[in-house]
Amino acid sequence: MLKYRSYTADNLHTLPQYGEIPEEQIHIVKTVATVYPFRVNSYVTENLIDWSNIPEDPIFRLSFPQEEMLNPEDFQRMSGLVSTDAPQDIIRQAAREIQLLQNPNPAGQMELNTPLLDNEVLHGIQHKYRESVLFFPSEAQVCHAYCTYCFRWPQFSGLESLKFANNDITLLLDYLKEHPEVKDIIFTGGDPMVMSTALIKKYIQPLLDIPTVKTIRIGTKALSWWPYRFTAEHDSDEILSFFEQIVSSGKHLAIMAHISHPREIETSQAVDAINRIRSTGAVIRSQSPIVRHVNDDADIWEAMWQKQLQLGIIPYYMFLERDTGPKQYFEIPLSEAVEIFNTAYQRMSGLGRTVRGPSMSCAPGKIIVQDITEIHGEKVFVLKFTQSRNPEWTNKIFFAEYDDDASWIDDLSPALGHEEFFFENEMERLYTCS
Ligand SMILES: *Cc1c(COP(=O)(O)O)cnc(C)c1O
Ligand code: SF4
Repeated sequence: MLKYRSYTADNLHTLPQYGEIPEEQIHIVKTVATVYPFRVNSYVTENLIDWSNIPEDPIFRLSFPQEEMLNPEDFQRMSGLVSTDAPQDIIRQAAREIQLLQNPNPAGQMELNTPLLDNEVLHGIQHKYRESVLFFPSEAQVCHAYCTYCFRWPQFSGLESLKFANNDITLLLDYLKEHPEVKDIIFTGGDPMVMSTALIKKYIQPLLDIPTVKTIRIGTKALSWWPYRFTAEHDSDEILSFFEQIVSSGKHLAIMAHISHPREIETSQAVDAINRIRSTGAVIRSQSPIVRHVNDDADIWEAMWQKQLQLGIIPYYMFLERDTGPKQYFEIPLSEAVEIFNTAYQRMSGLGRTVRGPSMSCAPGKIIVQDITEIHGEKVFVLKFTQSRNPEWTNKIFFAEYDDDASWIDDLSPALGHEEFFFENEMERLYTCS
């Protein structure tokens, strides 16, 4: 029988590798986990983490909270409460105060992207770009394990759970009737692959009869965090048959795999899962952020994209860390990210150059940092929208003053004597209209 064990700060002592973790690290995990959600499972601890190399091991950094994710004063405060066994409600209250200061709702997601139908707000649905709609099933607001850098941390900490999710697919169906321009439905969470096959069917099956919908995406980290979802669970065969059914209905099914490090697709379990998914006719694409301490190295990205290509996965996006939560610990300056991206990209054959990035998902759209160059003696970042709130901005090149330390669009100023970026005027209007 398949054994699934999930570990949190409360039952950490039951982890078989507990004895290999220095006491100081245990205290760090318990302290930081009061603010940022922590959950890891037995597949990750047994197959992905190199216990002889903690805390440096990238998968350990990716799944276990790190001291520097909190600023020193906050760490001291929570550390004191944890070591003196303060009452739970005092700890929770202190953690809330810290959480609320960490920009829990970046890029205006809530205000700007939640659509209306007959003047009703459609919670759990986001429609930002003309062709695609995001759907957040309410049962998928968790993951098989939590990534320490996750920008969805407010959902997992109960800060936003109810506002974000939806369990009524008929609202989406009604909305799609009014919006035939939407071709692409993206299921996301959390991780939709935590749901049973029966639930996944409940959400996706009705979409197969809508002719204006051409593609269905499922965003998931299950290939890395729990590949048994596709190979050894009681309803693994059913999910694969359902994927086949989606494909034979004439829709394109894209599994958007979140893969941060090559090691995640080197295990035999992950390779089995990948092969089974591909045999259904679904296509796997990969996307993930570039983050300090996990994958801040061109060799890692090259190895990861190369391995993906070999396994039949299409490299799709490299993201930059969003401006939320423990960003200061994980962030990479734009200048370094574009250097890493371009170095790895240049080493790929054309088959690997389907990938785009490094990309910032911000209020006006997805902005790619393409290069650093000089125009009339001024050093600039070359930027481009690959997705935009106004479709006419897509693929437009624009420039920002070069800045060594800038790590997000908010840190940038227009270059070449411009007072503002070309989209800012219209963006303000979009804000006030929505
Ligand atoms: C990234 C994103 C999409 C999908 O963009 P693609 O470039 O088509 O992958 C859709 N909606 C939102 C809100 C997004 O952030
Ligand atoms: S799998 Fe995705 S949504 Fe889940 S914790 Fe990791 S980054 Fe967040």
